[in-house]
Amino acid sequence: MNSDRLLNAAAAGPVLWSPSQNPEISAAETARYLGLGSAMPDPPVQRSIESCIAELGRVMEPRCVFRLYSITGHADTAAEPAVKNCAGPAGEPAAETCVELAGTQLRIRSRALSANLRGCSKILLFGATAGPGADRLIRRAEVTSMARAAVLQAAGAAAVEAICDALNRKVDGELRKEGLFCRPRFSPGYGDFPLSYQKDISRMLDLPKNIGVTLTDSLMMLPSKSVTAVIGISDRSAGCPPQGCEVCDKHNECAYSRTRAV
Ligand code: SF4
Repeated sequence: MNSDRLLNAAAAGPVLWSPSQNPEISAAETARYLGLGSAMPDPPVQRSIESCIAELGRVMEPRCVFRLYSITGHADTAAEPAVKNCAGPAGEPAAETCVELAGTQLRIRSRALSANLRGCSKILLFGATAGPGADRLIRRAEVTSMARAAVLQAAGAAAVEAICDALNRKVDGELRKEGLFCRPRFSPGYGDFPLSYQKDISRMLDLPKNIGVTLTDSLMMLPSKSVTAVIGISDRSAGCPPQGCEVCDKHNECAYSRTRAV
């Protein structure tokens, strides 16, 4: 699909996408999710990480769905269409920055997301999953070795991040052909972007039907190695690195940094 058709399709409804081959799961990211920071794991842990990554790589089934919306409304100037002062629900104060999506009832009330989306005219909603195989492996390991189950948990988290990175690269590449640029992805549950917005994203992308992901009453995703997120799209490049604001050397002075409003 060329970029024009992809963007038109994503503006008209959810678009399904999977990488042509399973993305590589990072051993360093797996170690980080295990709480080892950037320290080099000792050889037995390293071997366990490598073996869990290999096992997971054989069962993961990456699936993604995304949809593009226009952002409407702003309190200050037409040049900054991302943020707007929304009236709160009855009894709550107004004037909290929020994001409105055209053609929907969705208003996302989050200062951090509003800051990140400043100057964006569009927003991409997406869901991604590594599939149910990771959960099966983890459940099986929990019977025989909790240590291995913990490494599989960490490798599963790294796997779904690798899938999100692959989707990010795909979307970024297509958008750049149209002179548009991505801000870092931003997930419900981060900062003051409430986890409850997962319900709206799930409904708007029909995650159960499109990628087999459901939400429990406590907002856990099943399969557990799944993610929902949004990506702001602007015609101005902020020069965002794919790892996001936390590692960006501009995050102290950048007007769009999600870390400044958290
Ligand atoms: S701080 Fe860096 S990554 Fe975050 S929005 Fe600004 S330029 Fe992009």
